[in-house]
Amino acid sequence: MTTTRPDTKTALARLLTEIEHRNPAQPEFHQAAREVLETLAPVLAARPEYAEPGLVERLVEPERQVVFRVPWPDDRGRVHVNRGFRVEFNSALGPYKGGLRFHPSVNLGVIKFLGFEQIFKNALTGLGIGGGKGGSDFDPRGRSDAEVMRFCQSFMTELYRHIGEHTDVPAGDIGVGGREIGYLFGQYRRITNRWEAGVLTGKGAGWGGSLIRPEATGYGNVLFAAAMLRERGEDLEGQTTVVSGSGNVAIYTIEKLIALGANPVTCSDSSGYVVDEKGIDVDLLKQVKEVERGRVDTYAERRGASARFVPGGRVWEVPADVALPSATQNELDAQDAAALVRNGVKAVSEGANMPATPDAVHLLQQAGVAFGPGKAANAGGVAVSALEMAQNHARTSWPAARVEDELAAIMTSIHTTCHETATRYGTPGDYVTGANIAGFERVADAMLAQGVI
Ligand code: GLU
Repeated sequence: MTTTRPDTKTALARLLTEIEHRNPAQPEFHQAAREVLETLAPVLAARPEYAEPGLVERLVEPERQVVFRVPWPDDRGRVHVNRGFRVEFNSALGPYKGGLRFHPSVNLGVIKFLGFEQIFKNALTGLGIGGGKGGSDFDPRGRSDAEVMRFCQSFMTELYRHIGEHTDVPAGDIGVGGREIGYLFGQYRRITNRWEAGVLTGKGAGWGGSLIRPEATGYGNVLFAAAMLRERGEDLEGQTTVVSGSGNVAIYTIEKLIALGANPVTCSDSSGYVVDEKGIDVDLLKQVKEVERGRVDTYAERRGASARFVPGGRVWEVPADVALPSATQNELDAQDAAALVRNGVKAVSEGANMPATPDAVHLLQQAGVAFGPGKAANAGGVAVSALEMAQNHARTSWPAARVEDELAAIMTSIHTTCHETATRYGTPGDYVTGANIAGFERVADAMLAQGVI
């Protein structure tokens, strides 16, 4: 157990105020920075080298931020102007690595929060990847394939000059899946005249993509939840689970839950949620969401009597043993957490990035619920992206079983690291502190070794 010198805490509080001042109107970034800095006091007190002036200050300032115009004509010839972003946050451990998000809610603050989280997440994987994130306020919903292609081509026409297999390696996130990565890769190849497979991850399996990459974030989160339950002498078998979202992360979370004998009974989108007494039929969900690009109410219509669509409802009101928020940031607030606790939830594991608000996290932890923060629990996606980069570099591709074994080993190791680190710093069972400190130690050591840059 380490005691914290009051001056460390004061210095961190002062830095947080400064972050809020220097980055106005970026509430999500403030939230992500606060959540990390508030847990660092014990490690800064215990390891004086980390308290070196400038180290934490450098960590919260992106190495580079790019904002650019993305004009594109729609199918009727009308020109739209979106804004593109790439925040290259920290490259102490490897090339910047992190997804691209295409969603109307995207702004610089959202991308900075995601990039900041990515630094620690990527460090926790133990692989050689730095942290970055990008995206656009473009809304792919309701757009034709041709429109999405023109947008992606325009986006890449600027982005290409900032990325590269040794520099910065984007991938998918909300609104960016295999289709978008294909169009982005095509345009990069055309502009640069290089077959540089390692410049993007999440590629199609036939042209440089890794098997299990589409499944990796969801599968990894379920493995993390299972590891937290194992720590308490339980497993996922027979547990009722609620999952929010219905995109890539939610779908493969549901698939893995079923494989491990759990019963996932929900999925959702921005219009409401579905509760399915018989358990979600993942093949039907894939058909509706991935093939038809439809909404979850269609799933309920087709599924028949066991499923019900609740328009505008909060999925967290459905009683469950385990909850896996897999939609978006701040989707689970204190009221939702209270409902989960009332219904006897044992574990909450974040498939999305920062889905639980700080109040919700606090409430869950106070109630003794095992809580897996996204930067640990959903690291399986980016970890398999790094394995995709390794395969691209070696000009080879691994069988699915090999990738899945490596993913399982990485998730076990992240769980152990977070658990042991939390215990070492006097907060056993607190995966938030464990993840933040363990990720920080790895990045900070590399930054110290590489000098003031
Ligand atoms: N967008 C994913 C994440 O939040 C994956 C990033 C990647 O594969 O680079 O971690």
